[in-house]
Amino acid sequence: MSLCSTSLPAETDVLIAGCGPCGLMLANELGRRGIRVVLADIKDGTAFNPQANATQARSMEHYRRHGFADEIRALGMPDDYPPDIAYFTRMAGYELARFAMPRARDAKQVIRGLSGSWSAAELPHRVSQKYVEQVLLKHARKYASNSIHFTTRLVSFADHGSHVDCELELAAGGVRSTVRTKYLVGADGARSFVRRELGIALTGEAGRQREFMGGRMYAIYLRCPDYYASMPNAPAWMNVMVNHEQRAFMTAVDGKQEFSYHFQLREGQNEELIDEAEARRQVYTGWGRELPIEIMSRVSWTAGYTLVAEKMQQGRVVIGGDAAHLFTPAGGMGYNTAIEDAVNLGWKLAALVRGEGGARLLQSYDAERRAVAVRNTGYARTLADSLGGFAARPELEAQTAAGEEARRVAGEYYNHHARVEFNIPGFTLGARYDGSPIICSDGTTPPPDGMNIYHPTACPGGRAPHAWLGDGRSLYDAFNLEWTLLRMRRDVEVSGFEAAARKAGVDLRVLDLFEDGLRDLYEADLALIRPDQIAAWRGSDDSQADAVWRQVLGF
Ligand SMILES: Cc1cc2nc3c(=O)[nH]c(=O)nc-3n(C[C@H](O)[C@H](O)[C@H](O)COP(=O)(O)OP(=O)(O)OC[C@H]3O[C@@H](n4cnc5c(N)ncnc54)[C@H](O)[C@@H]3O)c2cc1C
Repeated sequence: MSLCSTSLPAETDVLIAGCGPCGLMLANELGRRGIRVVLADIKDGTAFNPQANATQARSMEHYRRHGFADEIRALGMPDDYPPDIAYFTRMAGYELARFAMPRARDAKQVIRGLSGSWSAAELPHRVSQKYVEQVLLKHARKYASNSIHFTTRLVSFADHGSHVDCELELAAGGVRSTVRTKYLVGADGARSFVRRELGIALTGEAGRQREFMGGRMYAIYLRCPDYYASMPNAPAWMNVMVNHEQRAFMTAVDGKQEFSYHFQLREGQNEELIDEAEARRQVYTGWGRELPIEIMSRVSWTAGYTLVAEKMQQGRVVIGGDAAHLFTPAGGMGYNTAIEDAVNLGWKLAALVRGEGGARLLQSYDAERRAVAVRNTGYARTLADSLGGFAARPELEAQTAAGEEARRVAGEYYNHHARVEFNIPGFTLGARYDGSPIICSDGTTPPPDGMNIYHPTACPGGRAPHAWLGDGRSLYDAFNLEWTLLRMRRDVEVSGFEAAARKAGVDLRVLDLFEDGLRDLYEADLALIRPDQIAAWRGSDDSQADAVWRQVLGF
């Protein structure tokens, strides 16, 4: 989807470099709050290549907060397409393992029946990033305060303490304009210009080699109208090919004819020498069958990163998304972490622009999101080690007893692996901001962190536990856009919080819910919920209201 507009305003509140998921989501967070934004991207529109394929439950909850979760869930594959994860020797060969997932058409009903680790308002959705970006852009454009400019590059900036002057170049080598902004956000991807200009290094691990998902990978975006009618195995969303000749994965993009095929480049395999014919041959190797295909794009990329920026904020400049952390895309965590950076940053920047926040508010973005980036990149590395650690031997495809045994072993391995990689409520719902300067700890200890298990808890610093209300609504749908004070016991005084919020100029809604079980879930009479649905404080009276507000607003 392409969009160009020409005139850049001379001044703005927030300038965002990069219209990927992070920049677009941030434009939605700020646009909804009426904050003036200039959003610029070098490209002439949203992504053409599919890129990320998994939208996690937490990202879906945020899309729900903005009112477009259903729109996103309607995208990608048809709603009855099996979003399974399946492992094959080759696509026309043996199926080794499969992890079946609920179909999109059932997602809304299924999530209402789940509890424990899957206490959530939304299930994950399998959809290519290219479609998600189009929705994010469409909604970002709804807000008159958003000024969106493609074919526009940030070429320099200077932080003057009270504002940042940004120089933007319209079209390659074209006219340059200066925009004065209160804050600059580098959501400018893996090679982030903003991060490099600030001299911020990436720390962690780069270049981990594995048999699969470590080293150079080659991506082919292709169309094959005959695929589903010609392939013998049941369809899946994520297809992993395990054979001694080639290690690859392929995601279904539209569930009809488009696919995103990625294979591991072996030592000595020169990507420069891969022409269209060779790319085609590689696809046929993984498929074990030749079908007419149209290649729409080809690009190489690197797997094996576990990198996090040493800081995510410096003065009035912040970085988020791939600019601040690089994953190996096992588990589908990179884009989802980028979305949560934007959500965390959005309400804070809005509060600062409106004069509602203190100095520690922006610093808390670094404190909160950097720790989560370290956690999430670490989880992704564990998954990549597991996915790539299995050695594929030739007998896997042999029609012999040894071959059968090899396939049984591989099946066991991948059946286990799939459940670890693709059932990750802990990753998506369990990230926490313990130790953040703007979280009011109540001295309780949060449950242990784990990728595959989530313990709903209102221990301050984590996602507010979700519940379905007696009238069928999601608790989250009852939350305010900004702050919510959840009162779960009658006759508890909240006027101290209301008065303090009025004094701070902050939008607070007191939400009275005296439903069975909610107080037990929150283990408190009152809980203060941030605009990003994080529990900031909990307690039993309003005697500390002033101090709580000062802390949660970063004073
Ligand atoms: C093969 C593959 C599969 C993946 N699968 C998943 C998955 O299943 N789940 C998942 O969560 N993640 C996945 N990811 C990762 C995901 O694609 C990225 O994490 C995500 O795109 C990051 O979003 P972003 O907005 O931070 O950056 P990007 O999407 O990279 O956007 C950055 C934007 O900044 C623009 N830009 C750069 N420099 C400038 C400048 N100077 N001025 C203006 N604009 C600029 C660029 O043009 C670009 O549009 C995958 C990645 C790959 C490669």
